[in-house]
Amino acid sequence: MTESDRPVVLRNGLVLTMDDSHTVLTDADVLVVGDRIAEVGHGLTAPDGALEIDAGGGIIMPGMVDTHRHMWQTAMRGYGADWTLTQYFVWYYLESGKLFRPEDVHAGNLLGAIEAVDSGVTTTVDWSHGLQTIDHADAAVDALEAVPGRFVLAYGNIQQGPWQWSTTPEFRDFHARRIDGGKLAGFQLAFDVPGDPAFQEKAAFEVARDLGVTVTTHAGVWGATNDDGIRLMYENGFMTPGTVYVHAATLSSDSYHRIAATGGSVSVSTESEQSAGQGYPPTWMLRKHDIPVSLSMDTSVWWSGDLFSAMRSTLSADRSREHLEAHGAKETITHHHLRAEQVVDWATRGGAKALGMDSEIGAITPGRKADVVLIKNDDSPAMSPVLHPYGHVVYQAQRGDVHTVLVGGKVVKTDGKLVGVDLAAARAKVGSTVDYLRETMGEDLWQRGMNPEIPESRILHNPYQYTK
Ligand SMILES: [Zn+2]
Repeated sequence: MTESDRPVVLRNGLVLTMDDSHTVLTDADVLVVGDRIAEVGHGLTAPDGALEIDAGGGIIMPGMVDTHRHMWQTAMRGYGADWTLTQYFVWYYLESGKLFRPEDVHAGNLLGAIEAVDSGVTTTVDWSHGLQTIDHADAAVDALEAVPGRFVLAYGNIQQGPWQWSTTPEFRDFHARRIDGGKLAGFQLAFDVPGDPAFQEKAAFEVARDLGVTVTTHAGVWGATNDDGIRLMYENGFMTPGTVYVHAATLSSDSYHRIAATGGSVSVSTESEQSAGQGYPPTWMLRKHDIPVSLSMDTSVWWSGDLFSAMRSTLSADRSREHLEAHGAKETITHHHLRAEQVVDWATRGGAKALGMDSEIGAITPGRKADVVLIKNDDSPAMSPVLHPYGHVVYQAQRGDVHTVLVGGKVVKTDGKLVGVDLAAARAKVGSTVDYLRETMGEDLWQRGMNPEIPESRILHNPYQYTK
């Protein structure tokens, strides 16, 4: 028996199963045999030689699912902290995105993938829109395959129209070589529909249909994509089940109805929407239209790739909006509609459903793939008492409290440390990319990119005088 196929039993944890009835078990065990969850219950008998992990005082939950992350941008971690969406577009789409070589995409993906599994995100959609050439795409896949997590490649290329890159023989060849029978968890086509009546994107939708894969699209992004794009997709029959609409923050009720009626879902990136300007985080509208939700972190050029931030900000933004709307009508919200339990669902089951993977992942039930997270930190004063387990995950826990992560039964992190992952190598590669970009851009451009000008603020005239 090798270390990787050794059974694992997590003992005496509080288990958020996220099964159909959201069963919560206290002082319970989770037994993993091979790549699957074998049993969940009390006082389980584990096979000889099983690895025992003490989950006492901790919370066991399914691995989280991030449905939209531009992992190649991880090489520029934090660089755009003060950006707006406009500055992001100028930097990546118009000016500097072209500078990224295959090895730079590889470096960002490698660090981004490690960052995901470290924070308990066991499945991530790599919304990879920096694939200027097939060499870039191969480099992206090489990195994802080198990290023991589940990754869906959402193939995109912001340097061309989707009708151009998706219709080449090289693209088909790449799909045949790397995706069909490959190691990735899935494949999507990633492109946007800005609403040009010529609807050239049609060709890319047809490629997706041909390959039997879904499309993920930034839709309802202020100033970029809007109701026209949704209408074109609808009228041409491309709003199909499984389509993932990212942000969906500035759409009309009519567009939301279309998404709901055609079996789509929305990937909400609350931290991104709040800061970059796609529109107000839309869960308060999505709830009204009964649209399924998953969560995402978008890009590490601003934020980090952990879903604790997504759950926390999403719950707070929804409540913030609910209060604001009520105050506008001189009313008071006495009971919140959105609960912590629901956002934990969105971070786990919601993501699995959005990707059509919910029969395999997203819950801790016997027979599912063993993607399991243990949140436990005996050194943290914020980890006790655990009274409201969903609330604890959302508002108290954080990525540093991720004690153990299993992906397909394989231990990839335990005791708070990654296992079998070469973080130093990933760091070195990202370091080389940063050196290369900084040198190529020149120090002035590099600094100006990171530190955008602040518009002048007008201070209001104060009619009051301070007197003793
Ligand atoms: Zn995005």
